[in-house]
Formats: sequence, C-alpha cells, structure tokens
Amino acid sequence: MSIFLPRHSFGLLNIRPSRIKSDRFPFTLSTRSSTATTPNLSTDNAVRLDSAKTLKDDQSLRSTWSHRAWVACGCTTVLISLAEAVSGGASSHVWVEPVLAGYIGYVMADLGSGAYHWAIDNYGSTETPIFGNQIEAFQGHHKWPRTITRREFANNLQALSRAVTFTVLPMDIMLYNDHPILHVFVGVGSGCVMFSQQFHAWAHGTKSELPPLVVALQDAGILISRSQHGAHHRPPYNRNYCIVSGVWNELLDEWYVFEALELVLFFKLGVKPRSWSEPNSEWTQQE
Ligand SMILES: [Zn+2]
Ligand SMILES: [Zn+2]
Repeated sequence: MSIFLPRHSFGLLNIRPSRIKSDRFPFTLSTRSSTATTPNLSTDNAVRLDSAKTLKDDQSLRSTWSHRAWVACGCTTVLISLAEAVSGGASSHVWVEPVLAGYIGYVMADLGSGAYHWAIDNYGSTETPIFGNQIEAFQGHHKWPRTITRREFANNLQALSRAVTFTVLPMDIMLYNDHPILHVFVGVGSGCVMFSQQFHAWAHGTKSELPPLVVALQDAGILISRSQHGAHHRPPYNRNYCIVSGVWNELLDEWYVFEALELVLFFKLGVKPRSWSEPNSEWTQQE
C-alpha cells in the first residue's frame, strides 16, 4: 500500500516521513548530505578511465602463492565437511535431512553474505583490526565497480577462504562424521560464503564475458543476477547487499531490515552508518 505522510523534520538524523510502499517502516533516511550534488558524469568518466588505466597492471589485483594457498585451505576445509557429511549419512542411512540441510545452508549463506556486506559497507574503517582490508576493498569497489572483474580468482577469494579455514576446520576436526546434517549445512553454507566473491565478480560481468553456464545460473536466480546486484551500485546505494543468490534482497529491503538495524545501532551506540552520509560524487555508476 502506498501512502504519502505529512512532512516533518527530525533534524538530528535528517529523518523524514516520505512516500513509501507500506506503513511497516514509516521513515526513510536521507542517504546524502544536504550539500551532496549530482555527480559530474564527465569528471567521473575521466576519473574512471584514469583509474582503469592505473589499475590495469595493478599488482594488487594479482593472485600470490599465499592467496592460492589460503584458497586451497578453504576449499579443502569445505570438502572435508562434505566428505564427513557423506560418510556420516552412509553410516547412519540418513539422506533426506542432510540434503535439506544443504539447501538451507545455501539459502542462509545468501543472508550471511548480505549481513556481512552491509556491516563492512557501513561500519569500521581501514584501521579496524581484522576487517580493515575488507572494508577498504569494498570502499574501492564502490568507486570502481568493474575492477572486481579484473581481480584474479585467488586474490578475490583469499580473505573469505581464511575465515572459512579458521572457523570451519576446527569444527571438522572436532565433530568428525557424527553429525552429517550439521556438516552438510556448514559445508554448503561456508562454501557458498567463500565463493560469494566470485559470484559477486560474475554479477559485474557482461553477458558476453561470462561462461554460458554462469549466465544460465544467474538467469535462473541460483546465482546473484547482474541486474539485481547492479541496483546495489545505483541510488539509494543501500539496497541489495546479498551476493550469493540474492533471494533475501527483496525481503530485507522491503522490510527495511538493515535501515532498522542502523537506527538501533545509532540510538544504542551513537554510531552512524556510512550510508547516511555517503555515497558522494566519488561513487561511479555501474559500467
Ligand atoms: Zn557494497
Ligand atoms: Zn558489486
């Protein structure tokens, strides 16, 4: 139901009632400061071209042996989880529940990718312990979205591969094959999270650049589609955070879940998310 509420001003947060699709969340937050201006597209194009030229041979996009080793560790960890699930399923003759658990793992990985992406897009800084590099990488990604398509595979996946190795491998070792349902849930879920950056990179590719199978999976909604993720890089720049399948995006955005969390965090901790004051003219449109 679309309604139009009378205009009020809550100066502190620049919160104002506005035209909204439903009455579940009656406010929108201005995502731009009052001094924000429409991006100068010609300047942005020039900046983008310069940046593209600079980044063409950028070593930071290349995979190192350390990146490859971490991705190998992450993949091994996921494979151990799945092998233990198959072994546990074979010895207990339980199959339906593990298959269902795998599907739930895939669906929940999309939600996890959205929550993580929202958190690092909006909070912390390049100085934040552990997450600083990821925060910097995502801020750079918003300025030059297509650069991710030139980032090499292991370079793109290594951060999440490390996280999967450190969190899931201890579980593989401790639980052995006694819990096939848990193993398949964790194996599929962590595998999807680890590869979410590859799905994300494909979402920035053009149809002609991508393998036909990837395009088919995107069109079927199994992987995040190019059009759905493209909306994350367009105003109001605070939507479509999920990057595995994108199945949660509509629900999260329609129910203003992340905006509600931002309000809670602001009132409880006094921390403003970046989406309230950014993006600014440094952001470029999806190429
Ligand atoms: Zn983002
Ligand atoms: Zn993106």
